[in-house]
Amino acid sequence: MKIGILALQGAFLEHREMFARLGAETREIRQLSDLTDDLDGLVLPGGESTVIGKLLRDLGLFEPILAKLRAGFPVFGTCAGMILLAARVSNGENVGFGTMDMTVKRNAYGRQLGSFETVAPLGVLGNFPMVFIRAPYVEEAGKDVAVLATVDGRIVATRQGNQLATAFHPELTKDKRLHAYFLNMIREAKR
Ligand code: GLN
Repeated sequence: MKIGILALQGAFLEHREMFARLGAETREIRQLSDLTDDLDGLVLPGGESTVIGKLLRDLGLFEPILAKLRAGFPVFGTCAGMILLAARVSNGENVGFGTMDMTVKRNAYGRQLGSFETVAPLGVLGNFPMVFIRAPYVEEAGKDVAVLATVDGRIVATRQGNQLATAFHPELTKDKRLHAYFLNMIREAKR
């Protein structure tokens, strides 16, 4: 299994380490030539979604990745990555791929709660540690979007087909289960 990790900006190293612990290979995606056919999935990390969106276009990566996502290529977006997958951004410019039928609000927790940690149930995985850093949440999820977790009534993890998104940063904890879940999604998609 080989996972591409978008490595233009933000928290991508921690994703690599997480997959290494699970025995999956990774490759940093920095330019078009990194986007080879041997990849089985893609991670869109946290960072600043507007910056990542601009770099994706400047580097000619936006359209090729969009085409893959539209064709069902497995993707896992965390925080800024979730914003890049959302079809709608309620409080700002939408610079992302928009392949998940949901509306997100950026920097949604305001200044005081800018960053926080909690533990909440995450679908079949049960209680899961969640690190939020100037995070978005999902204001509205379309009918094909499964809600995997909520915190204080706000949606913070979703799945639509082969697309997985979290408002929090699972790569900043020791818990490997969500990355393992993504690897399982890929295995299912291959069958
Ligand atoms: N605030 C960032 C954004 O709006 C997301 C923060 C993060 O990825 N940790 O893109």
